[in-house]
Amino acid sequence: MSRSVLVTGGNRGIGLAIARAFADAGDQVAITYRSGEPPKDLTAAGVLAVKCDITDPEQVEQAYKEVEEKHGAVEVLVANAGITKDQLLMRMSEEDFTSVLDTNLTGTFRVVKRANRGMLRARKGRVVLISSVVGLYGGPGQANYAASKAGLVGFARSLARELGSRNLTFNVVAPGFVDTDMTKVLTDEQRANIVSQVPLGRYARPEEIAATVKFLASDDASYITGAVIPVDGGLGM
Ligand code: NAD
Repeated sequence: MSRSVLVTGGNRGIGLAIARAFADAGDQVAITYRSGEPPKDLTAAGVLAVKCDITDPEQVEQAYKEVEEKHGAVEVLVANAGITKDQLLMRMSEEDFTSVLDTNLTGTFRVVKRANRGMLRARKGRVVLISSVVGLYGGPGQANYAASKAGLVGFARSLARELGSRNLTFNVVAPGFVDTDMTKVLTDEQRANIVSQVPLGRYARPEEIAATVKFLASDDASYITGAVIPVDGGLGM
């Protein structure tokens, strides 16, 4: 059955692969994006693209109104939008820290809370949050990012406990290193060093993250909530 699916940050990278996976399965998909333009083939395939900065409560409210008007209440939310601002601690400004928390954690709180309105009414909902292996194990120069991504785990698990009786599930996917714009900034040397530590010996393709997200939103995952699933080629084990 076709569901109303919303993917934040769905215009590129992992979010785009997730949006495509749901659209290919026949769901009614909406994406939000902060800048640039969404790929033409995506909107041509019927995906609704809404410009929305998740750090702005008004833009989030507007985006939900538009999605609800066109697709009905959101039944599956994938909170994927996120940023990095890597810096060693002694060089990390307050702004470097708070802006990453504002987007990755508070922004996610905002979109999840708004989606839950409709999900509680429907007494059914699937929420998947995109964290990171860095949130589970830390990363040098990434204290801000790791704190935000670790925060998502506590957030999801609290909601899994709070709202399980209402038939809402909250799960977390923790990707390892994935070939996207976010990791393009790494030098060849950094990349080779990472790959040497990954048992599968390579980066993930965005589609490999999307497949796990799609599973967690499917009926096959109806008894899974509060789970944190690494999709990391074995990096974190
Ligand atoms: P990306 O930079 O290609 O995409 C990030 C997306 O988030 C973009 O669509 C961007 O528009 C959106 N976004 C950022 N700030 C936003 C804001 N304030 N409001 C609305 N949208 C905003 O990165 P990606 O690699 O595709 O990452 C997607 C998610 O996966 C992120 O949460 C990231 O932390 C996580 N992740 C990525 C990797 C990786 O190796 N690439 C690994 C683990 C986790």
